[in-house]
Amino acid sequence: MTDDKISVVVVGSINMDLVARCAALPVPGQTLHADSFEETYGGKGANQAVAAARAGGQVKMVGRVGDGAFAKSLVENLLGESVDCSGVLSTASTASGLAMIAVDNDGENQIIVVSGANGHVSAQDVQDAAQAIRRCDVLLLQLEVPLDAVAAALEIAHQCRCRVILDPAPVPTGGLPASLFAVDLLCPNETEAALLTGMPTATFEELQAVSNELHRRGAVSVAITLGARGTVVSTGSSVRLIESTLVSPFDTTGAGDAFAGAMAVRWAETNDLISAVHFANAAGAIAATRSGAQIGMPTRMEIDTFLDTSHTTP
Ligand code: ADP
Repeated sequence: MTDDKISVVVVGSINMDLVARCAALPVPGQTLHADSFEETYGGKGANQAVAAARAGGQVKMVGRVGDGAFAKSLVENLLGESVDCSGVLSTASTASGLAMIAVDNDGENQIIVVSGANGHVSAQDVQDAAQAIRRCDVLLLQLEVPLDAVAAALEIAHQCRCRVILDPAPVPTGGLPASLFAVDLLCPNETEAALLTGMPTATFEELQAVSNELHRRGAVSVAITLGARGTVVSTGSSVRLIESTLVSPFDTTGAGDAFAGAMAVRWAETNDLISAVHFANAAGAIAATRSGAQIGMPTRMEIDTFLDTSHTTP
């Protein structure tokens, strides 16, 4: 794949997920026995890269793996999903990123992330991928790599035509630096939106106020994902709830990543935010019905079929 054809560049994390299924999630101090265990590919960056590739995008990943047991298979997995890995570097004497995930019978999850090599992704790594960022349609960012690297990517994007989507997860303990709010689309989930602003998110009016605050801080458009309820989209001049077709969740891990990856592709294709949110809602809904983060990402055909049969198209 040449840089000319790339529609989405993802700068982000690459993890191996260690997933335990339990009847209930443990409370602090409690030890629980899992009903089952599996290793799956994850990391918000890699998840969104795979989601975008399956949704029909030409995707390049910028990130790092370590030199431990998981490194080779993490890259091979992305290559197998047709993700360009020329921007994925290896860090010596470091473990690859790892996530320990517990999922209960209701599909709720608890996640502990070990950064490993993801913590070594640098502004220079991003500079080295500047040519691809300048030529892509959408730059897709999350916050599981150092904020310096995220800021460097944003700065390159600001100098060219590509649009930037930031999924502000996880929200940094000290809050999001002011400069990182200045993106074309900020897409937090409800919890992240509340953490970013310190404002309540229970009602539509409250979500409207949260969106306005995020615009005030620099976001051109805002999409707050609400799980089964869908997504509140605000452009600054209008705000509306775009409902998702309710599905029975099996494992909501990855729903938000499916949403972000699909959003990037559809927005790159159509330049139509509302149509892209319908498409992304469908991707999130399908992902919520499936086990695992990456493995459950829907294909383009699956998303189109879901939209055709669920009567949610604009
Ligand atoms: P996150 O995984 O980041 O918490 P959400 O749970 O908000 O993200 O899910 C992202 C999107 O996926 C939602 O906005 C919605 O469109 C879709 N989605 C998630 N769960 C369901 C569900 N049970 N039914 C229908 N759509 C869902």
